This record gives sequence, C-alpha cells and structure tokens, in this order.
Amino acid sequence: MFLSNLLKLNRKCRHDHVTPDKNCGYCPDCGKFIRNEWYITRCKCCGVKLKTIIKNGEILPQHRYCSNCGGESFCVEKVEQINFIDINFAVLIKRIVENNEIICSTTRCWQEKTYEPPKLTVQY
Ligand SMILES: [Zn+2]
Ligand SMILES: [Zn+2]
Repeated sequence: MFLSNLLKLNRKCRHDHVTPDKNCGYCPDCGKFIRNEWYITRCKCCGVKLKTIIKNGEILPQHRYCSNCGGESFCVEKVEQINFIDINFAVLIKRIVENNEIICSTTRCWQEKTYEPPKLTVQY
C-alpha cells in the first residue's frame, strides 16, 4: 500500500531522456531545461572518496564510517567533469534549471552533526 502511494507521488517526469553524457539539455518529455549534476562525498579526515547515495533528498556516503580511517565526517563535492573513476562513487542529480537562475558551482563542505546541511531539493 505504501509503495503504490509512493509511486503516485513520484509520477512527475524523471527526465530519463536527458542522458548523463551531456551536462545539460532540454527534456523531451516535459520541455524543462535539465542540468546533470554529479556529486561525490569525501572523507573529511583522510580525503578518500566515498561511495555516495541519495537518501531522503540528501547526498550522503553509503556507509557511515570511512573504510580507510574510520572517520565519520564527510564533505560533499560537486563534480564538474565526471570521469569513469568518479562515476563509481558519484550520484547524478537531474536538476531543473529555471530562467535566470544563477548557477552556483562552489563546493559545499560541512561537518556531519555539528552543522545541518542544506536540504537539497531533488526534482525529477
Ligand atoms: Zn522531464
Ligand atoms: Zn577517512
């Protein structure tokens, strides 16, 4: 029952035809201009790249602790140019670019727990 409700809510366009090989483009299904944004998480302690997932609209490392140093804090980095190594770690966010939107490409970093990261509005 829960699942069918969820599917109903997510019936908005997923922009599946905007392929990840392009940075951006118009979605042929809904006509919106879509920007592909890749994000990775990195351990704040040792700097190793962490496998990244999206959970409840937030970009998070898949595992709570770093497999390299055991650290718990991480930072989120926007990947400007995705490559075949990073693609294994990164998540793709298809963002609708509204008119006149200032595209911000700064790297956001935060300490887990001490600072509540801004909620990302993931739009499909
Ligand atoms: Zn679309
Ligand atoms: Zn680490």
